[in-house]
Amino acid sequence: MIHDKKKACVITFGCQQNESDSEKIKGLLDCAGYEILNADMTEDMSGRRGQFTGTSRISECSVIIMNTCAVREHAELKALSRIGQLKHYKNKNKDILIGVCGCLAEQPHIAEKIKKSFPYVDFIFGTREIHRVPEILNRVITEKTRVFERNENDINDIIPEDLPILRENKFQAKVSIMYGCDNFCSYCVVPYVRGRERSRAKEKILTECAGLAADGCRDILLLGQNVNSYRDPENSNYRFTDLINDIAKIKGNYLLRFLTSHPKDVSGELIGMMGENKKLAKHFHLPVQAGSDRILELMNRKYTRAYYLDLVHELKEKAGDTALSSDIIVGFPSETEQEFEDTLDLVARAEFDNIFPFIYSKRLNTPAEKMRDDVSREEKTERFKRLLKLQNEISLKKNKAYEGKIIRVLVESEYKNMGAGWLAGRNSQHKLAAFKSRNKDLIGEFADIKITEGKLHGLYGEEV
Ligand code: SAH
Ligand code: SF4
Repeated sequence: MIHDKKKACVITFGCQQNESDSEKIKGLLDCAGYEILNADMTEDMSGRRGQFTGTSRISECSVIIMNTCAVREHAELKALSRIGQLKHYKNKNKDILIGVCGCLAEQPHIAEKIKKSFPYVDFIFGTREIHRVPEILNRVITEKTRVFERNENDINDIIPEDLPILRENKFQAKVSIMYGCDNFCSYCVVPYVRGRERSRAKEKILTECAGLAADGCRDILLLGQNVNSYRDPENSNYRFTDLINDIAKIKGNYLLRFLTSHPKDVSGELIGMMGENKKLAKHFHLPVQAGSDRILELMNRKYTRAYYLDLVHELKEKAGDTALSSDIIVGFPSETEQEFEDTLDLVARAEFDNIFPFIYSKRLNTPAEKMRDDVSREEKTERFKRLLKLQNEISLKKNKAYEGKIIRVLVESEYKNMGAGWLAGRNSQHKLAAFKSRNKDLIGEFADIKITEGKLHGLYGEEV
């Protein structure tokens, strides 16, 4: 007699780090014997949300886990509202187990709120308890109790290694190289919900990357809140650039990317490598956050506008074909019209390929929470729109410059926006290009595309 496997899903909000954590949770559930249904609710870095995929199948699941984001109030409210919606599944089937994890779960006041206001949530676990998912689930099932596991003592002395990972596909992989953050930018909740900075042992990272390359992975993304402060725990002289050099020696047809870099820690050596190392993708995400020195200081960013623009200049000189992207916050407490215009001016000078603009959002227990959030809602929205308008002009100009060129893309998926018979991929600069092709076997491989049209949000072309 064949028994159907029990099913589970993990719904993911937030950044690539959360996506990467979810891949580990899914890997652990898979090993525990669950069939994993795809029910992701992902959000890209710009805050644009994707759709639930496979929503109708969520009700088939015995376990539903929601991996949440707390970086802005909007993300927090959205996650809480989604947790509210999960009650519907519990009402239909009281045996379904519901769990909440991620950055929201790490905040004591939210964990308490979930405990009290969402009695149908069976378990909560923090960002540093992911490896304990099977044990937590087992306790919920065998002890018939609710389980709440947060790292209350803020201890993060171990990095769980060798966890199974269920990746979304074979050709793109996220590899965490470090966890946590020590920068304490005054607006940011990350250091409080992800703990102190700690790096993985270089051998573990190299072994993981070698396995991926041997398996035909085409795009390896090295992840950390601040990858440039990577240090091998056994040898603090071994830095991020050493790691890149060693990974790039691994044979295979892949590109190497990394996220995120803090400008204060970017070395000249790394910029030089962007121009020289053939394995490195030509894309640099370098969040500037603001263009005024006073605001940068209030943000505790530890660099000046001139320093940042010098980095951009150096990058353009040494690795001119590298695409540059950035994160920017508008409406930080006390930001004046002139200071906002300094940000516009910096954006015009840096000529980013694209930016992820955010409206400042007050976060509990961060230093900026004590500052008066005195830029009005209307003013913040207005600044956001002006910033976006300027960047759109720059992005369109840059995309138009691709017309007539042939680029190599890693084909990622079908491109449903244009109907049947289209595929989409990204080039080394991480530009999205859609092209006509019915050859779905190209997904996961590199293809050469002639660009016929550059639009605001991407490129269009045909296979050559
Ligand atoms: N470690 C990365 C990512 C941090 S979170 C980095 O330093 O770049 C991603 C982005 O969210 C940040 O770069 C910042 O632009 C934005 N962000 C963080 N906290 C915010 C807040 N309180 N309000 C608005 N945007 C915020
Ligand atoms: Fe947050 Fe700053 Fe750390 Fe990035 S570097 S995670 S913005 S504290």
